[in-house]
Amino acid sequence: MAFEPVYEGENPVDAHLVANFLQANGLHPRVEHDQLWSVAVEVLTTPGVLPTVKVPQVEAETARQLIEQWRNDNSAGEAPGWQCPKCGADNEGCFSLCWQCGHRLTTGDNE
Ligand SMILES: [Zn+2]
Repeated sequence: MAFEPVYEGENPVDAHLVANFLQANGLHPRVEHDQLWSVAVEVLTTPGVLPTVKVPQVEAETARQLIEQWRNDNSAGEAPGWQCPKCGADNEGCFSLCWQCGHRLTTGDNE
C-alpha cells in the first residue's frame, strides 16, 4: 500500500501527537524517522530527517483536513478575539472565519 506524507513534525512528540489524533479518527498513520531520534542524537541536527507522519494514499486528503482542524483546535485556547477587517464584527479567538461574513482570518501576521 502506498503511503503519503501528510505532516512533518518539529520533533517526535509533535509527530506522534498528530499520528495519535489521526488514529483516533479512524485513519492508519505511521511515523517515520522518529526511531532515529532516540538512538542517535546527531540526527537531531541533521536536516531532512524530521519525523514524518504518513497515511495510506486514500486517506491523505482526510488526514490533511484533520490536521488543519487539529492545528486550529490547538491554538484556540490562547487565541485572542479579533475584529473582522471586512465587516467589523467581533469574533472569538477560536473562530478562524468571521461568524458574520465568513471572511477568513489570516494567521501568522505576528510571526
Ligand atoms: Zn466579517
